[in-house]
Amino acid sequence: MSAIDEQEIRAIVERVKSRLDASGNSGSGLAAQTELDEISDIELGDGIFRTINEAVEAATRAFNEYQRIGLGGRYAVVDAIRASMLEQAERLAQMAHQETGLGRPEDKVIKNRLVATKAPGPEDLEPTAVTGDAGMMVTEWAPFGVIGAITPTTNPTSTIINNTIAVVSAGNACVFNVHPNAKKVSAENVRLLNRAIVSAGGPPNLITAIPTPTIASAQELMHHPDVRVLLVTGGPGVVREALKTDKRAIAAGPGNPPAVVDETADIQNAARSIVAGASFDNNLICTDEKTTIVVESVADRLLQEMGRNGAYVLKEHELRKLERIIFNELGQPNKPGAINPKWIGQDAAAILAEIGVQVDRTEIRLVVAEVPNEHSLVWTEQMMPVMPVTRVQSIDRAIDLAVKSEHRFRHTASIHSTNVERITRMAVAMNCSIFVANGSNFSGLGEGGEGFTSFSIASPSGDGLTRPRTFSRERRVTVVGALRIV
Ligand code: NAD
Repeated sequence: MSAIDEQEIRAIVERVKSRLDASGNSGSGLAAQTELDEISDIELGDGIFRTINEAVEAATRAFNEYQRIGLGGRYAVVDAIRASMLEQAERLAQMAHQETGLGRPEDKVIKNRLVATKAPGPEDLEPTAVTGDAGMMVTEWAPFGVIGAITPTTNPTSTIINNTIAVVSAGNACVFNVHPNAKKVSAENVRLLNRAIVSAGGPPNLITAIPTPTIASAQELMHHPDVRVLLVTGGPGVVREALKTDKRAIAAGPGNPPAVVDETADIQNAARSIVAGASFDNNLICTDEKTTIVVESVADRLLQEMGRNGAYVLKEHELRKLERIIFNELGQPNKPGAINPKWIGQDAAAILAEIGVQVDRTEIRLVVAEVPNEHSLVWTEQMMPVMPVTRVQSIDRAIDLAVKSEHRFRHTASIHSTNVERITRMAVAMNCSIFVANGSNFSGLGEGGEGFTSFSIASPSGDGLTRPRTFSRERRVTVVGALRIV
């Protein structure tokens, strides 16, 4: 499966823009023009309902209507979503940053564009046919119905866009219970998605949400009898809750991705890739590098190159100060600590300023701290641009520490090495949904790497990078003794 190319996307944008203008239902309507600060109450309409029950009922009606527009209609709907989200990518990124106070707006734009272009569409549902002496068998991908989706504060819009493309490509409807800290931008996102869907001939309310999501409303959604499948993206708590229900749960949980660098690596490329990857949206993405494990003989060079490529390498006394700031409680050796949420998703420059180091925000994207193997930073999903670098004697020890510090989430890991045997060995040992060699981890999401993208990587439930097939029921037709035509 290949993503649609840039030229095709531009053509779709133009087509949908003229359709939206003609219908007077432009993506930048009244609510869309309103600045976030001015949104005091989230208005109902365009997919926003007062209660979970109303949102599920409306999505159920929309699902039934959606079945009637056929596969061609589905392609048109997904094209319109891509075009509208590309047009709104920047604005939604700014709003998400403003509301959550997390990450880097310019990186959020990249995330929105990535999902709008590289999340697979209905083409993912290619049927398969087998013929033989006994006749013919065809496998097709059928929708489930209403999907209940729970989204995180770290990637609010990119997750909603990505989940929507996957779910509606497969012919389903979706009810979102978004993170309360991103409820305004998420409501705006849901509204825009609905307008795009309707502009392409899809039913209203195929995507719904409520204005004041809470943990209680998330629980209501998870247990609603008309919700067939759950899609949860977040930390360990919500994953546990979803897996406890009696529904099929597609669970995208936490990670702690280690990046191993061995003595055969192109050290400059390794340093650049890790700085770019770990600082992407201030380390908010679950796949971003969170620990660097380097073989002793190349450790000094790696640190030097990181310093030359956008990182500030802390001195020992600065690390002590930083620990007191970013941890509420430094963990025991070989255990995660309790992160101070105030610093999650903040700029490296702001974190450094707090310990008395002034740097330029655009030049320094990452703080690097050299720490021993057992230090809490190695074992914690920090979600801020502070990268621990820890030395080991050999590649064997590096892989061993990578496996242990990833806590068997089986989420994401990477290696920088030119030795194919070592790349293979680590990939096997990590057993992760995403494994990257010689690039930033965002390449594993299709940004600067091959393949489609997903912002819900469902390792706990074994679905991996979610896509339309993930939200489909596999169905078979067998015709005995006929329809083999050769
Ligand atoms: P979070 O767990 O605090 O919240 C995620 C969502 O779950 C929110 O909508 C929240 O309201 C809801 N929620 C939380 N606890 C719940 C409960 N007990 N019952 C019902 N709903 C509940 O996570 P966050 O801070 O928004 O996001 C960061 C976490 O998500 C990190 O651990 C990150 O690794 C993970 N994440 C994973 C992926 C992936 O694809 N695997 C993608 C993004 C984020």
